[in-house]
Amino acid sequence: MGKIQLLSDTLASQVAAGEVVERPASVVKELIENSIDAGARNIEIRVRRGGLSSIQIADDGCGMDKTDALMSLERHATSKIRESADLASILTMGFRGEALPSIASVSKFRLTTRETNALEGTEILVNGGKLISVKEAGEAPGTQMEIRSLFYNLPARRKFLRTENTEFSHIEHQVRIHAIAHPGIRFSLVHNERTVFHLPAADSLFERVRGLVGNELAQRLIEIPQSERDGMRLSGFIGEPGLSRSNRSLQMIFLNRRPIEGAMLQYALREGYHTALMKGQHAVTFLFLEMDPSRVDVNVHPAKREVRFHDGNALRALIVDVVAQALEKRLSPLANAAPRESETPVMAPTPEGDTSLAPFDAPQEDFRQEVLLPEAEQRQLRRDWSPMLEQRPSTGVPPAPAPQEASEAAEEKAKVDEPAAAVGEDGPPASQVPRPSDFRILGVLGKLYVLMENEGGLVLMDQHAAHERILFEQMRKRMETEGVPTQQLLMPVTLEMTPKEFDLVRRHLDTLRKLGIGAETFGANTLKIDCLPTFVSERDGNRFINDVLEEIQHDTGRMSSVRLGEDMVATTVCRHAVKANDDLHPEELEKLLEDLLACDLPFCCPHGRPTLVQVSYKELERKFGRVV
Ligand code: ADP
Ligand code: MG
Repeated sequence: MGKIQLLSDTLASQVAAGEVVERPASVVKELIENSIDAGARNIEIRVRRGGLSSIQIADDGCGMDKTDALMSLERHATSKIRESADLASILTMGFRGEALPSIASVSKFRLTTRETNALEGTEILVNGGKLISVKEAGEAPGTQMEIRSLFYNLPARRKFLRTENTEFSHIEHQVRIHAIAHPGIRFSLVHNERTVFHLPAADSLFERVRGLVGNELAQRLIEIPQSERDGMRLSGFIGEPGLSRSNRSLQMIFLNRRPIEGAMLQYALREGYHTALMKGQHAVTFLFLEMDPSRVDVNVHPAKREVRFHDGNALRALIVDVVAQALEKRLSPLANAAPRESETPVMAPTPEGDTSLAPFDAPQEDFRQEVLLPEAEQRQLRRDWSPMLEQRPSTGVPPAPAPQEASEAAEEKAKVDEPAAAVGEDGPPASQVPRPSDFRILGVLGKLYVLMENEGGLVLMDQHAAHERILFEQMRKRMETEGVPTQQLLMPVTLEMTPKEFDLVRRHLDTLRKLGIGAETFGANTLKIDCLPTFVSERDGNRFINDVLEEIQHDTGRMSSVRLGEDMVATTVCRHAVKANDDLHPEELEKLLEDLLACDLPFCCPHGRPTLVQVSYKELERKFGRVV
């Protein structure tokens, strides 16, 4: 008896704060979200010492009267929902009524606020959850909050804070991500009295992105044609093939403008990018997802970073398809008729504050149709590829010059395709798919880099990477249609494995067959292989099978067999493609270039490394001191 007691409000808030307020950046996030919810057009954030010393935020939103200002500091006090049914239609950033009391319970907190037309404002001071004073104040309309000495009364938490710089970089990320979500709001961020950025209200998402990441990176973004499916709408920008980052700081995804993350989203992006993304690297995305709020639960994560979708599979499929198609089409912002340097908005501005879903009225675009070659041409291309694959399974010798039709088909494809991304930043205008005739081959450097000139200057082609891309796409096309050409082994190979491996392989026999591996079980825990794809030489057979088994083991079970096959093809073609020091004849070089440019994704190898690099005249002039 009497062992259980209710926590005091202050203690309860501190406990709740542990969930919501992990570090200074969480405070910044909560306060920005409140300002956005309050309809602010200007948000100013000033922090000192990475937020450890102080965080100030000022907005010009609706403000609060005295009663509401006091209420806002009570736990579970919110103006955003009233009854549980409202949880199903949340379009505001906040709804739990937890942030302010939590923050105020673990800091020295000052709130001043004034409603737009009110004569007087209110100032409230709270220390570690204890109300110190409430008085009238005459600040500008809107709300200002100041948080000093965060976690001063929670030494355990304060100890876990990192350096000033690290904490600040988290804060900066929060401001950036919300600035991307709301291009129409003016944001400024000041650290230790130094302006980190000042972003005027932008007319378009592209303008805001450019303002934040710079022109150079912005130019390497592909605009996603607004796509709608199953009541979900996706739009925004993604990095062109080969553009990536070693962390996820530029991988932004928003659901109804709320920044979200989650393994499923990352997986979908990775799958959409597939070979256009280097292993271990992360895609650059500014993706906006919109759907009716009743189809998603945003109330599953303390910081609301992760959400639960009612139909996660459909969403995943949508992301994968849209990303893959955009990359295939290689749309870039400028390809969309918006001149790069101009201020022309690329995306129609969405009115801020109006968070309701616009009607799904965008015309449905069937972009795949435009991209693919007509059936007959595809078949012709395939026929042209086959001899090379069958006659030269693994010699590493590049294909002989193709019959006329192939290059014509390739050229036709170039015409059909949407404008491509530039070879390099200063390269030829990105609004054109380069054609073989745009380049003149000069020679080969170090038996690896094919030197070429084009309008923009010098272009280097990595012959190994280029050949990998070509082989990869050939194999993939064949796998999709007729399956992989196989060769019977003179001596079947038997492989002994652990029961666990064996079980795994047994469940994937079908996949193996599709990959051209003829395998059957041969007694307990032994596999007999009598057939291999023609592109694997017999002496590489064992290694190939081991690679495949390795891949299967790492398969999460969500991979389709074609995808699994692709990944393996990507790994294997690497070994069988033209090697770095293979001497190629001039005609072979021409053919290599031609075949590369006919690929769906010519600018990177199946591992996402670049195949072509441009060194512009401008760069050369700089190097030779002709210009400064
Ligand atoms: P929630 O955002 O979940 O409602 P908070 O604790 O963050 O909870 O805020 C409590 C309430 O205080 C909000 O519902 C809102 O009415 C009010 N509020 C907070 N910040 C602001 C602001 N910057 N401008 C106007 N009102 C605000
Ligand atoms: Mg809030």
